[in-house]
Amino acid sequence: MRLRKIGAVAMVLMGVQQANAATFECQSNVRSAPYSALQQPLVDRFWGETLTYLKEYADALEKPTGACKSSAEALVQTFDPATNGAQRRCITKYRDVELLVKHVRAVLAEPDKAKRCFDLHNGDQDTAVYTPSRAVQSLSPTSSHIGHPLLSDYYRKIGGPIGQAGMELAGNFREIVGNVDSSAHFKRDIGMKGLPTLWSSVGWVPLYADNPDAGDARFRGGYLYAEVMGPWGNLRIKRIDDELVGAEIGMTVQLGNTSYPMHFHHSQEIYMTLTPPQCVRQNRMLLLNWDNDRFQHHRRDRGWTVEMEGRQRDVDRLFVNQDPSDEWLTYMERNAIHAFDTTADCNRTIKPAGLVTAWARTSARDNSQATDICSPPTGYGELVRMRPDEKTVCKLEDWEP
Ligand code: ZN
Repeated sequence: MRLRKIGAVAMVLMGVQQANAATFECQSNVRSAPYSALQQPLVDRFWGETLTYLKEYADALEKPTGACKSSAEALVQTFDPATNGAQRRCITKYRDVELLVKHVRAVLAEPDKAKRCFDLHNGDQDTAVYTPSRAVQSLSPTSSHIGHPLLSDYYRKIGGPIGQAGMELAGNFREIVGNVDSSAHFKRDIGMKGLPTLWSSVGWVPLYADNPDAGDARFRGGYLYAEVMGPWGNLRIKRIDDELVGAEIGMTVQLGNTSYPMHFHHSQEIYMTLTPPQCVRQNRMLLLNWDNDRFQHHRRDRGWTVEMEGRQRDVDRLFVNQDPSDEWLTYMERNAIHAFDTTADCNRTIKPAGLVTAWARTSARDNSQATDICSPPTGYGELVRMRPDEKTVCKLEDWEP
């Protein structure tokens, strides 16, 4: 009996050792300079909130919802012609999601080893990152210490309708991100109230302000994303146990009354909606696999041209309402075509409107990482809003399996 007990203890210890024996290879551009006694607590606070966010993220993916037994159930198409309705799948059954969860769990199991790949600054020297405003910066001494330039200054310099939308977003950022409600699927508040250092210290990118192909000015000035973990984030792990880490985990904020046109990319993607709508149809999304019958397909050299007519009855059927308690989790397959529309006119808008999501890509280290926007057949401009009679053209490139 005694011997068997010792044997069991030894096996448990071996199991623990095995689980904790991962090798972490940081990306080469992680700054390894030691922090001063004054800086270290600022880094520790940011790191601590990063771990909370990653843990809540992985837990949410693995918590059974819908018809799934050991996984959350994700919307994978808003319209499937086979059933005339939405299509759902158990999200961790996808190999790329399974790997993302495995790598996040490895970080959580050995945080001190993973922390060597954590940096106060981002991994992309070519893209400027920002803090939304002085008010957001003041939420955390870490954010003040990092001292990213302010988006409020950036948008003021741009001016015009793009700058104006950006000023509205930066000025209301605290309130918009403070309005999130993550209680339905997360144990902790993962919004800015719960994790103020994370949301104020992470580097925000005004992704479309400079991109004339990205639809109208209000959307271009009214969209931000940030990356916590991944090749361009703060936690930059290239490999765990010789396996490439494709996980890219962060958050997005889209200003109310904007339309993110249909777009696509090689990496698979996950969105978790955190903002409760002020009216049922306030935040809507479209998600269709590239080979969905709703599109017309034309083969090109190394790609497909995919077209869709914008008939209104289709638009109403193809979009679904996003909500943090109901249609909260979405998974995009490679080259899936998706759009986010926050233009519904709620009769009474009590608070500044914006759509906040926890966001991730799963294959950030293979194929192309570019996001391409679909266009009207006449070319880019102010259109691409899925208006009635408006045709949309998407030029997809093949990916390497
Ligand atoms: Zn996307």
